Amino acid sequence: MTEFNPEQALWAIRREFGEHGGVAPSISRSSTFTVMDPGVMPDIFKGVRGPEKGGYFLYSRHFNPTVDTLARELAAIENTEAAVCSASGMSAIACAILQICHVGDHIVASDTIYGGTHALFEHVFPEMGINTTFVNIINHEAVAAAINPETKIIFTESVGNPTLRVANIPALAELSRGKGLQLVVDNTFAPMILSPAFLGANIVISSLTKFINGASDVIAGVICGRRDFIQQLTDLRTGRMMLLGPTMDARTAFDIQQRLPHLAIRMKEHSTRALAIAELLQQIKVKVVYPGLVSHPEHALMTSMMNRGYGYGGILAVDCVTQKRAEKFMSLLQNKERFGLIAVSLGYFDTLMSCSGSSTASEIDIEDQGRIGLSPGLVRLSIGITGSLSVRLEQIERAAKESGLA
Ligand code: PLP
Repeated sequence: MTEFNPEQALWAIRREFGEHGGVAPSISRSSTFTVMDPGVMPDIFKGVRGPEKGGYFLYSRHFNPTVDTLARELAAIENTEAAVCSASGMSAIACAILQICHVGDHIVASDTIYGGTHALFEHVFPEMGINTTFVNIINHEAVAAAINPETKIIFTESVGNPTLRVANIPALAELSRGKGLQLVVDNTFAPMILSPAFLGANIVISSLTKFINGASDVIAGVICGRRDFIQQLTDLRTGRMMLLGPTMDARTAFDIQQRLPHLAIRMKEHSTRALAIAELLQQIKVKVVYPGLVSHPEHALMTSMMNRGYGYGGILAVDCVTQKRAEKFMSLLQNKERFGLIAVSLGYFDTLMSCSGSSTASEIDIEDQGRIGLSPGLVRLSIGITGSLSVRLEQIERAAKESGLA
C-alpha cells in the first residue's frame, strides 16, 4: 500500500488569502448572500449554480464560504473527496447515520465507543426504528454474524474511547464492501495518525472539539466522504445537515482553520509525551494501556495502519482498579502535582483526565462496561503538550507511587 501524508495533503489544498492580501483568510460571516441578477436565485435552488458551480452562495445553513474552506481542508487531511462541517461531533454522527438509515434499518456498531454515541444508538435511534447490535469490533466473526439483511452500516471508532482498542479498518472495509455496507469510522482520537478513508472506510467522522481544534474552546464536528454523499447531506429537500440544521458558525470555522497548520506538530508532540509517560508507568508496574506499547494487543495492527511520523496518539489509560483509587490518583495529579486537569474531553494542549466508567462512558450499563473490559478505576488521560516532559514524568511517578499504583 502506498503511503498517505496528511500534512502534505493539507498544504496542497490551502489556497485562501484574506481581503487586502491578508495572510490569514477573512471570515465571511453573512447568513445570507445577494445575487446581482434575480434569475440566478432559482438556479441556486435547482442546484445548477452553487459554491462549486460558479462560486454562488445562498444561505449559511446551506453553504458558507469560511465553513466550506475548513471542510475542504479537513477532506484533504482525511483523503476524501468532500466534507461538511457541523456544530458538534454528535450532530455529525447523527446526521451521517440518519442520511443512510431509515425505519427498519440496522447498524452493527463497536461496543467500545464514546458513551454519548452509545446512548444515541441504544436509546434514540430505536425510537426512529433503527436498531443496533453492539459487538466486539476486534472479533470479525462476531461482526459478520451480527450483519442481517437490514444492516446498512458498520460503525466503529478508529481507536476506541476509552479502552483504546484499535479497529482493523482494512479488514472491516473488506467485510463491508462484500456485504454492500457503509463503513463509518469516528477518527476523533487519531487525526493525522490514522486515515480511515485511505484504509478503505466510506465515511469518516470527527469531533473537531478534541485534537483537531486543540484548544478546548469550541464544540464542532465534520463528516468526510464521497462528494455524492456530502451532496446528499446538504440537499435542499432531503439533506439531514441542511434540514436538521446543526450548522457550524463561520467564526468557529475560522478558529479551527487557523489551528490546522500546527495539528501535525501537536499530534507528534502529544504522541511523544504519551509514549514516554506510558513507558515510565509500565516500567514502574502501573497497569497502563497505550497503543504505542508493544504490550498493547493491537500494537502491531496500529503500526501497520498508521501514517508515518505522528506516533500512536495522545491518549492513554491507567487502570486504578477501583473508582476510589482512580479519584485519589487524579486528585494528586491535579491538586498536588499540577500535572493536569480533572475534566472530560480530550485533545487539549494541557492534560485532561477523567474516570471514564463514572463519566464519559457512564451511559453504558455497568454490566456492559465489565464485558468490554472497562474497569471502574480506569482513568483516561489525554496527555498535553505543555511544561517540561522530564518534570511531567517526575510528577506522574510520584502520584502513581503515592496512590499505591506502583
Ligand atoms: N466521538 C468521540 C470519540 C468522542 O470522544 C466524542 C466526545 O467526547 C464525540 C464523538 C462527540 O463529540 P462532540 O462533543 O464534539 O459532540
